[in-house]
Amino acid sequence: MSFSALGLADDIVRAVTELGYTTPTPIQLQAIPAVLSGGDLLAGAQTGTGKTAGFTLPLLHILNSKPAASKKIRALILTPTRELAAQVEESVRDYGKYLPLKSMMMFGGVSINPQIKMLRGQVDILVATPGRLLDHISQKTVDLSGVEVLILDEADRMLDMGFIRDIKKVLALLPAKRQNLLFSATFSDEIKTLADGLLDNPALIEV
Ligand code: AMP
Repeated sequence: MSFSALGLADDIVRAVTELGYTTPTPIQLQAIPAVLSGGDLLAGAQTGTGKTAGFTLPLLHILNSKPAASKKIRALILTPTRELAAQVEESVRDYGKYLPLKSMMMFGGVSINPQIKMLRGQVDILVATPGRLLDHISQKTVDLSGVEVLILDEADRMLDMGFIRDIKKVLALLPAKRQNLLFSATFSDEIKTLADGLLDNPALIEV
């Protein structure tokens, strides 16, 4: 099975081919069709399995194939750490290099002003850590009312780091009608509770 046989746009397949990816990994084989179908997803996947491309490639395809309803942020990817936010946003940029979609990352520990400036321009995909995102929310410098797709990456680590209340505050600001993807390496009761509240009849994937 190839990336194009999974239904991804030629401009996305071209970008991953240039990166040397020839065949989808097992998680990609399952996640890409599930995400393209538009439904929610609960995925158990460790780092190193290719999970980032598993959600990023179909996300890019979906956003690229639907015209933007407004100029608002269309996808929100939450990650536990700034390192992961940076990696994920780099993947979004690499895989989406032939698409007219703009991404931005935001995390704490750096000046907020350049982030505020960037948010005034076009941002289709926002990759953020929960704490700094809440800072922007309280300063009203970010508008999440147009989010069509929410992705929680390494959700177990976000809970371990104590981000559950922050995540809930963010969830309350998103439109009710949206696609939700939750990726986690482990499934504690706390993750199951979060998934139950967040996901609507999700496809289940474990690799
Ligand atoms: P991840 O599990 O998302 O952190 O990805 C692990 C590594 O695998 C990253 O360096 C990716 O660039 C690489 N990768 C992801 N998907 C593929 C693929 N289908 N073929 C080759 N390498 C890949």
